[in-house]
Amino acid sequence: MKVFDISSPIYEGMPVYKNKPEKQPKLQTATNGYVTESRLDLDVHTGTHIDSPLHMVTDGDTFESIEIEKLVCPCKVFDLTHVDEKITAEDLKQFEISKDDFVLFKTKNSFDEEFNFDFIFLAECGASYLAEKQIRGVGIDALGVERAQEGHPTHKTLFGHDIIVIEGLQLKEIESGEYLMVAAPLKLIGTDASPARVLLLDGVTL
Ligand SMILES: [Zn+2]
Repeated sequence: MKVFDISSPIYEGMPVYKNKPEKQPKLQTATNGYVTESRLDLDVHTGTHIDSPLHMVTDGDTFESIEIEKLVCPCKVFDLTHVDEKITAEDLKQFEISKDDFVLFKTKNSFDEEFNFDFIFLAECGASYLAEKQIRGVGIDALGVERAQEGHPTHKTLFGHDIIVIEGLQLKEIESGEYLMVAAPLKLIGTDASPARVLLLDGVTL
């Protein structure tokens, strides 16, 4: 069995959405004698994380509505590194996508070292296509599943069809194909997202 960690490292000065300083994690460490304790101030959308509907829907479901059983499952990694700007329904038609699939999109984003304001995102038509397919979840290697779309239709379409959204994946080293995914967020209550450790296991089946 091979384990691939597709989570982003978390540290002060890491890439954050639109380089906003208030989104940077802050670590305060105090040492008293031999005892060291740290306090971490963390935006719930830091690095690799899972959104809950509340993020984009007024009174939407909060993080605990996402069952952990839905985050441990087979997944398909699609190579979309040839795509420029946005992933459309047309780009997705070449792939075999079935009901309850969890799909991860590897794009040019995985090769960025810093936050890229022009990151590749999932277009509204791509989100509608995935909704028609009734997938379980989608993951992307950008800190947002969409950008530059008035009213956030991609998020709303996905959440409106109970599709789980994982953002901030690191897929540079991952070849397209099928894996067993273990996505383990913090057990946060009442939030619009949670950071997550996401692993891909190769050579194991559920
Ligand atoms: Zn998010």
